[in-house]
Amino acid sequence: MLKKTNFYINGKWVLPSKTNDFEVINPSNEEPFAVISLGFKEDTDSAVKAAKLAFVNWKETSKEERINLLEKLLKIYKKRFNEMAKAMSMEMGSPIDYAISTHASSGQSHLEDFILRLKNFKFEENFDSKSNNRICYEPIGVCGLITPWNWPINQIALKVIPALSTGCTMILKPSEIAPISAMLFAEMIDEANFPAGVFNLVNGDGAGVGTQISSHPDIDMISFTGSTRAGKLITKNAANTIKRVCLELGGKGGNIVFADSYPNAVRDGIRNVMSNSGQSCDAPTRMLVEKSIYQRAIKEAADEANKIQVDVASKKGDHIGPVVSKAQYDKIINLINSGIEEGATLAAGGPDLPNGLNKGYFIKPTIFTDVTNNMQIAKKEIFGPVLSIIPFESEEEAINVTNDTEYGLGNYLQTEDKEKAKRVSKKLRSGIVYINGKSPDSGTPFGGYKQSGNGREGGSWGLEEYLEVKTITGWD
Ligand code: NAD
Repeated sequence: MLKKTNFYINGKWVLPSKTNDFEVINPSNEEPFAVISLGFKEDTDSAVKAAKLAFVNWKETSKEERINLLEKLLKIYKKRFNEMAKAMSMEMGSPIDYAISTHASSGQSHLEDFILRLKNFKFEENFDSKSNNRICYEPIGVCGLITPWNWPINQIALKVIPALSTGCTMILKPSEIAPISAMLFAEMIDEANFPAGVFNLVNGDGAGVGTQISSHPDIDMISFTGSTRAGKLITKNAANTIKRVCLELGGKGGNIVFADSYPNAVRDGIRNVMSNSGQSCDAPTRMLVEKSIYQRAIKEAADEANKIQVDVASKKGDHIGPVVSKAQYDKIINLINSGIEEGATLAAGGPDLPNGLNKGYFIKPTIFTDVTNNMQIAKKEIFGPVLSIIPFESEEEAINVTNDTEYGLGNYLQTEDKEKAKRVSKKLRSGIVYINGKSPDSGTPFGGYKQSGNGREGGSWGLEEYLEVKTITGWD
């Protein structure tokens, strides 16, 4: 069993203030494979104290000094890349090839992109060519970073790298369910020799360290990725000290498949939802299909879902793994049962275990058809390999149904009509719209409308989240 019970505080791995062991479970076999500690207030306080002290000098470092350290970190990340992939495969059940090609590589590409953005970022400039007012961007201070388990290093990199880049100091609390990748990342930061106290890591749960962070008087900003439920609690806690709170929350993306979409649009939509076992905040979990192709779409969707293999994460190849935990497994199965009870038609999958898998949190890729947008399966973020198909007749109806959700993170649309694609994408209320499955470029902003959050991560927008803006008059 991997023993990872220490915290990284003030440049050292230190014992927790009190023993409070917590087992990390491998979701492929339900067995514990590592033990961490859940911290107490004393641990949070000492990490925040270190970050506050380190801020005094770190905020004065030049952009070049910070770029040098980040480039060193990038080299170390590349060297330990496979360890990173393996950690995530074990802790959250990502099949190893997917952990390499998608999870671990996201950490590397965020590092590379933020270094590039930082090189081009102007920390001060005149307001305009005639003005003697100077606009300065300054680090906000000590940041509390709280991350989820579903894209572990992706979320950590999207917070830690811009915080480091802008001269902020920080305490990271990764998900207690998938903390090993975060601890490996802390080892890399240590190896890169960032000054003591700039980056600190304390493990814990939401009720403990998470809440201590969101209410801590010496923390200036919280960046949180996770559920809308926790985002609301964090916002309330942070209000007493008027912290900046940046939230990246849940989603219930629509994928509008018009009759004139490219031939593989339905099948690609199925693959997209099922990848990462459906545990992506921007997964297109409601597929809206134009009535004239509805029957064909159902056949293709069921056929594609049935082709997707489900297997243990350590096995190489193109399959999906388990969902992350027993709690998630139970929640997903309950929602699948609610879909059946509410009268949706089960076209593939269902609540039974996939063939040959008796241990582990495995769920069959599941497709519901004849779904209406007021059913629980169309309203709730299921966060598992489950898709709802909803028929529509007109463009206007498709837009209205897609927008009829409390979320607004990622929406998708499929059509070969370029004008229609542009028109519809502008009407969709979400932080990102994917036309015909095209990926966003590195450094484009990511975040949500409505209850999907209120910030933007990535690129120069990601840097700006960690900066205060100051106007100085009479500069020249
Ligand atoms: P979660 O909210 O339960 O936990 C996320 C993190 O918050 C964990 O570190 C947890 O310990 C902590 N936490 C929980 N309650 C807290 C509280 N009251 N105060 C402070 N911290 C608390 O979410 P999860 O189940 O780990 O992650 C899945 C959720 O994350 C999904 O809803 C998903 O959509 C969302 N997500 C959003 C994005 C995005 O960019 N919008 C990306 C990935 C995941």
